[in-house]
Amino acid sequence: MKEFIIIGAGQSGLSMAYNLSQQNKDYLILDANDCIGAPWLKRWDSLTLFTPTEYNHLPGMKFPFPKGYYPNKYEVADYLKSYVEHYTIPIEFNQKITAVTKVNGIFEITSATTKYKAKQVIIATGPFHTPYTPPCHVDIAEGVTQLHSENYKNPSQLQDGDCLVVGAGDSGVQILSEIADTGRTAYFSGTDQIKAIPQTFLGKTLWWWFTKIGFLSVNRYSKIGQWLSKGVQPVIGTDVKSLLAKENVIHMGRTLSAEKETITFQKGSISTIKNIIWATGFKPNFFWIDGISFDEMNYPSNYRGVSNDVEGLYFIGLPWLYTRGSATLGGVYKDADYLMKYISNNKVAA
Ligand SMILES: Cc1cc2nc3c(=O)[nH]c(=O)nc-3n(C[C@H](O)[C@H](O)[C@H](O)COP(=O)(O)OP(=O)(O)OC[C@H]3O[C@@H](n4cnc5c(N)ncnc54)[C@H](O)[C@@H]3O)c2cc1C
Repeated sequence: MKEFIIIGAGQSGLSMAYNLSQQNKDYLILDANDCIGAPWLKRWDSLTLFTPTEYNHLPGMKFPFPKGYYPNKYEVADYLKSYVEHYTIPIEFNQKITAVTKVNGIFEITSATTKYKAKQVIIATGPFHTPYTPPCHVDIAEGVTQLHSENYKNPSQLQDGDCLVVGAGDSGVQILSEIADTGRTAYFSGTDQIKAIPQTFLGKTLWWWFTKIGFLSVNRYSKIGQWLSKGVQPVIGTDVKSLLAKENVIHMGRTLSAEKETITFQKGSISTIKNIIWATGFKPNFFWIDGISFDEMNYPSNYRGVSNDVEGLYFIGLPWLYTRGSATLGGVYKDADYLMKYISNNKVAA
C-alpha cells in the first residue's frame, strides 16, 4: 500500500509529485497513457502555447527557453519528460483507472490489470475527458470526413473539397486558420460574438498584463471570480477579425441540423461540405470515483482541491479550481502548494 497515489501524470500530477518528493512522502503516479506528455503530443501538430516561457514553469525547474518565447507542443512534452527524469518521479503507465473506492478507510484504485491501495488519492486527470460532438453529426452522410478536434492533427487528414469548422473557442479558430491557409473554402460555424485578445499589447505579453492587473489572482469564490469563471473564455492570440474577413472563410452562424450532405446553419444551408472538424469541446468524466458529489458542470465538489465528500481525496488541474491560472502550466504550482500544506497540516491554510 502507498501513502499517496496520484492519478494522472500531466503537469498537475507532476506538480503534486514534486511537493510529495520534497517531503519524502511515499507515492506513485498512475497514468492511462504510455508516455509523459501524451495529452500534448496528441493535440494538433501546429499547436503553440498561448503562454510564453516565463508563465510555463513547473515548481522547481524552469521552462528551458528564453523569456517571451511561445513553445510548441513537442517542447512542452520534452520539458515534462526532463522534469520526470530530474526528480525521478515514479510512474506506472498504461494504467487507466476505472474505479476509486474507499473501503474501511483505505482507497482501492482499480485498473484493468491491477488493484492498487493508498491512504490518500490525488486526482490529476485533467479537464478534458469525453469529446463532445453535437447530436446532428449522426445525420451527416458517410462520405463526409468528420473529426473531433481531439483527433485532428493537420490538413492532410482531410479529403479534397470544402471544410467546415464548428466551434468558436481557441481550438476552433486556430484550426480554422490552418485550414483556410490551404486555400479551400472554409466554413465556420459558431457565434459571431467572439471575444478575442491579442498575445501582446503595448509591447508586453497578455500574461504580463494579466499578472499586472491581478487577473491571475482573482479566485472563484470572490464576486468577480464567480463572474469571470462562468463567462465565455476569450480567444487568445488569433486575429479572429482578419480570419473571418478572408475571402475563402464563410461564417455560417450556429449549426442547426443536418440531413445527409446538407447542413443547415443560422445563415442558410450548404451541401458541398466534404470535411467537418468539430472543435466543440469536452465533457468532464469523474463518475468512476465513488462517493463524490458534483457541481452543475459535473466537476467534483471541492474546496481548493479538497473533496467535500471523501476524506483523503484531492483534485488538481480543474479549470478555475481556484483561479484562472489553476489549469495552466505556470499556475498549477499554487494549487499544488496549497494542497501540500493542507495535507501536511490537515487543515485549510490561510
Ligand atoms: C489546445 C490546448 C492548448 C492549451 N494551451 C495552453 C497554454 O498555452 N498554456 C497553458 O498553461 N495551458 C494550456 N492549456 C491548458 C493546460 O495546460 C493543458 O490542458 C494541460 O494538459 C492540463 O494538464 P493536466 O495535468 O491538468 O491534465 P492533462 O495534461 O490532461 O493530463 C492528465 C493525465 O491524466 C491521465 N488520465 C486521465 N484519465 C485517467 C484515468 N482514468 N486513469 C489514469 N490516468 C488518467 C491522462 O493520461 C493524462 O496523462 C491548453 C489546453 C489545450 C486543450
